[in-house]
Amino acid sequence: MKTELVIDLEAEKQEILKRYRALLRASKSTLQKGDKKEIRKAFDMALESHKDMRRKSGEPYIYHPIAVAQIAAEEIGLGTTSIVCALLHDVVEDTDITLEDIEREFGKKTAKIIDGLTKISGVFDTNSSLQAENFRKMLLTLADDVRVILIKLADRLHNMRTMDFMPRHKQLKIASETIYLYAPLAHRLGLYAIKSELEDLSMKYLDPDTYKFIAKKLNEKKAERALFIKKFVEPIDEIVHEQGLVADVYGRPKSIHSIWNKMKKKNIPFEEVYDLFAIRIILDSAPENEKADCWKAYSIVTDLYRPNPDRLRDWVSSPKGNGYESLHTTVMGPRGQWVEVQIRTQRMNEIAEKGFAAHWKYKESSNDNGLDQWIQKVREMLSNPEANALDFLDDFKMNLFSDEIFIFTPKGALIQLPLGATALDFAFEIHTDVGATCIGAKVNHKLVPISYKLQNGDQVEIITSSKQTPKEDWLNVVVTAKAKSKIKSSLKEEKRKIAENGKEILERKLKSLKITYNTDNIQKLSYFFKLPSTQELFVNVALGKIELKDIREYLTTEKEIENRGPERPENLTVDGIKNKIKGGESDILLIGEDMQRIDYTLAACCNPIPGDDVFGFITVSEGIKIHRTNCPNAAQLMANYGYRVVKAKWNRQKELTFLTGLKIVGIDDVGLINNITRVISTDFKVNMRSITVDTNEGIFEGSIMIFVNDTEHLENLIKNLLKVRGVTGVTRFDA
Ligand code: MN
Repeated sequence: MKTELVIDLEAEKQEILKRYRALLRASKSTLQKGDKKEIRKAFDMALESHKDMRRKSGEPYIYHPIAVAQIAAEEIGLGTTSIVCALLHDVVEDTDITLEDIEREFGKKTAKIIDGLTKISGVFDTNSSLQAENFRKMLLTLADDVRVILIKLADRLHNMRTMDFMPRHKQLKIASETIYLYAPLAHRLGLYAIKSELEDLSMKYLDPDTYKFIAKKLNEKKAERALFIKKFVEPIDEIVHEQGLVADVYGRPKSIHSIWNKMKKKNIPFEEVYDLFAIRIILDSAPENEKADCWKAYSIVTDLYRPNPDRLRDWVSSPKGNGYESLHTTVMGPRGQWVEVQIRTQRMNEIAEKGFAAHWKYKESSNDNGLDQWIQKVREMLSNPEANALDFLDDFKMNLFSDEIFIFTPKGALIQLPLGATALDFAFEIHTDVGATCIGAKVNHKLVPISYKLQNGDQVEIITSSKQTPKEDWLNVVVTAKAKSKIKSSLKEEKRKIAENGKEILERKLKSLKITYNTDNIQKLSYFFKLPSTQELFVNVALGKIELKDIREYLTTEKEIENRGPERPENLTVDGIKNKIKGGESDILLIGEDMQRIDYTLAACCNPIPGDDVFGFITVSEGIKIHRTNCPNAAQLMANYGYRVVKAKWNRQKELTFLTGLKIVGIDDVGLINNITRVISTDFKVNMRSITVDTNEGIFEGSIMIFVNDTEHLENLIKNLLKVRGVTGVTRFDA
């Protein structure tokens, strides 16, 4: 089929200029003498070099770099150098322009940032298994210049905003990477607005049904909510101004993704999520009055509404590591509903919205810069080249999202650690040697073990012994990436020494058996003892786990295994399966088809049924597993192992049934269980595999495993179960 595209070039030219002028307006606040000329030069270069290119939507390509530059200026608050780099971020990658051209025209700094952007642009595009390694490379550029990551985030945000024209499998992949790494990064850099938008957009593609469901629910109650907020805010507004504070008081909706997270975490329906919005009080304060004004506003709010004593958060006195400053409290609203109130000044608000760049701008006025410390930490972590890239990423991601606690040294210095950190983490934070020789600690003058979980405000003194060395199980004790990587490298070193010793012992043993010591024989031996590497073989010999008699046994079976080379099942499987699928009519795996020559199983973590949006994942040893795109494991799989993902589609067949679970809650009533099972078995003729029921003081909670045909079948069943008297909620559960 041919689609004809009618393009009005003159109108497009006007539109490009219009967008360019909007960019200039957005960057106005940071413009200095000569900057406008620089930006124009970059714009002209980008326009000329992308002139024959179009986006998937058919629009001129130049719209994209202009939009990325506008996000960088307007939503992240970056200056001219970054705007220039954003305009040119795709030229080296996609056009004839070279880095040398950029350096000649715009100087070293700009060329260096664009070089970084070009390098990481390939991070996700490869079809290799090395994506974790690529993530690490990307983070390395962060150590060079954070602006590379910030512009990359702007680039990703614009791509996510304009993804509708992409094919479905690309949407899934890009959305997975975004939720897996970019959103956490935005969070850690303090870009809360961008983080929330990235999360919502990812959800829109990964879990479209839930996304639409919550959006619709939010929209239904919009007017009611607006009225509630107005009534709640009015008295605050009045008294705040009476007391001479200048403030903007308003309600702000929470993101769809965060509402969904709450529903899942607390296992509650939408109706029971109380904080669909937060109240913000943004104060216009002189720098010297900021803290006092925030507490004044807090006092006004809590005079009007009763606060929940457990929910006071003071990030004004101790800002978060990413620079976030704010006073949070949760109060009881007039209709018996908890309401979160966030109090901060305009300066703090700008940092909260735009993060890092805004932080820089105010650097002089803020006393210590947590973000600098954080970037220093990232550098330290990255400087450990031995860490396994995937492990590293897991640790790193955990540290991106965790909350912080503040711990004091014996001399009163403040150390920031992630929530859940132990005395051993603290020891490694002080110094690697202190960590490696730690045998215990005194917390608030009381003796505690190394595994002690620290509390906010603890004062900690570490006790060491020169006889101590890092142990394997320490890895379960620590949570910080720093401590983990230090322990791992120390264990590795330890193992290397043991292996060296084992190697000598093995040489002697082989000699006594008259076996030549060479690589070939050593590999055969490791294979015989089913060990993953020759190093493991040496270690086992050193520890006495492999003895002379074991090696003799090997000699007797040696002939048998000689012809079997080491197996490489992994690559064979991935490529083999992919080719098999391609050998069919399309490159999509059809599920439920008898003719299918490919083995697959339905993943137990999300129990997909026909009608669910799904993909196939080629596992190492268990063939293809089918997952739902909103499976809790999906983002991690698609982001890290893109080359193992295959497109999959249901081939509808009514005769087949699939196992799924339903959670039913309600008020216990005579005959309730009977009525439920009647709907399931008699009305719907659905087979039940198991049913467990829990009644507690009149509340009924049942889990039922049933066999259904597809999502439509399931939805109808749910609808009818909800009509049963006494039933208040029916939800599908995965495992
Ligand atoms: Mn781009």
